[in-house]
Amino acid sequence: MDSILIINIKQLVGIQENINLRYLKGKEMSVLNIIENAFLYVENELIADFGKMEDINLEYYNSSKIEDAQGKLVLPTWCDSHTHLVFAGYRQNEFVDKIKGLTYEQIAANGGGILNSAQLLQKTTEDDLYQSASRRLVEIMKLGTGAVEIKSGYGLDTVSEIKMLRVIKRLKENFNIPIKATFLGAHAVPQNFKNRREDYITEIVEKMLPQIAAENLADYCDVFCDRGFFTIDETDKILSAAAKLGLQAKIHANELDFSGGIQVGVKNNALSVDHLECTGKEEIEVLLKSQTMPTLLPSTAFFLGIDFPPARLMIDSGLPISLASDYNPGSSPSGNMNFILSLACIKLKILPEEAFNAATINAAYAMGMEKESGSITKGKQASIIITEKIENYTYLPYAFGNHYIDKVMIRGEFV
Ligand SMILES: [Zn+2]
Repeated sequence: MDSILIINIKQLVGIQENINLRYLKGKEMSVLNIIENAFLYVENELIADFGKMEDINLEYYNSSKIEDAQGKLVLPTWCDSHTHLVFAGYRQNEFVDKIKGLTYEQIAANGGGILNSAQLLQKTTEDDLYQSASRRLVEIMKLGTGAVEIKSGYGLDTVSEIKMLRVIKRLKENFNIPIKATFLGAHAVPQNFKNRREDYITEIVEKMLPQIAAENLADYCDVFCDRGFFTIDETDKILSAAAKLGLQAKIHANELDFSGGIQVGVKNNALSVDHLECTGKEEIEVLLKSQTMPTLLPSTAFFLGIDFPPARLMIDSGLPISLASDYNPGSSPSGNMNFILSLACIKLKILPEEAFNAATINAAYAMGMEKESGSITKGKQASIIITEKIENYTYLPYAFGNHYIDKVMIRGEFV
């Protein structure tokens, strides 16, 4: 498709004039720029023009295909900056264990959780992993996700971590959706290193990271820095080794405890610190002085039945926040960003405008893609959602459990 003109758009939502805008913070997050009764012109995968219908010069666009969006909204696709969508199997049994009252940590202590996923992944072929991940990728694209980050972390040995990253590389090559890859060798300490965890850190630092960097298999490096997983010192060691190889940090922090994860992330210039259920004044102060994006994953807190992160306090303190799905088999077996927006409004008590900005421009920043995606901006990728006929954008998070998406376009192509 070379060019397409979308006309009669009821509301064109999420406009940013400035392509150099990095993210929105504090009060800025409650502003959502809109044009009522608008057009949008797409050329060569990019947003080439937009404006009011009354200002349109139809002759100028006369060679384009026309899409009539009468009664419909157009918004930028969701950016999902935190997923684990390459995995080998679902974990429904643990779902039942959780219903019966076992905690996430008890399940992990019993050899379940991440270690369960790792065992299964080590036995699964690269092709099978690629096939199942492809299905999940298509599923989220249809649900309006137009850029995504995917982590390794279910391999937990050099061969299997590389296998996961190669699967992500194949997804990058074969799908139109922009993808960022994150190496998460420090997702959990594997069973065979249980009593010599420092040897596993050494394996990550001396074997995995150099090979991954040499083969250019990852954009970022992640560590699960929390109670029962990796300590601050271990995290610091891994992140500084990764930085020397050109891999910026993007970490799991403060999900289970006030673990110091946010502080060690900021110290290491992390692009984002993710989860943050346990965030207080001290952590907010540290984040305010940084360029690190606090990323919240409300479906994980929802699924695990733990406290939600204090999003309202964070925004009111002047911070930016972004939202992501954490799509993974253990704690968020869904990559539906539409539901994430509903949860953010209902459970995090943030406004629809704040949730939209958190799931678009700020989420794009959280994976280093704010120059290409996350808003309706001339020169950015034409990745948009065309909704069904609905009243206004507030209807989307309000009417939870459904998505009211008519069409999704990613880089100028309909999904
Ligand atoms: Zn995660």
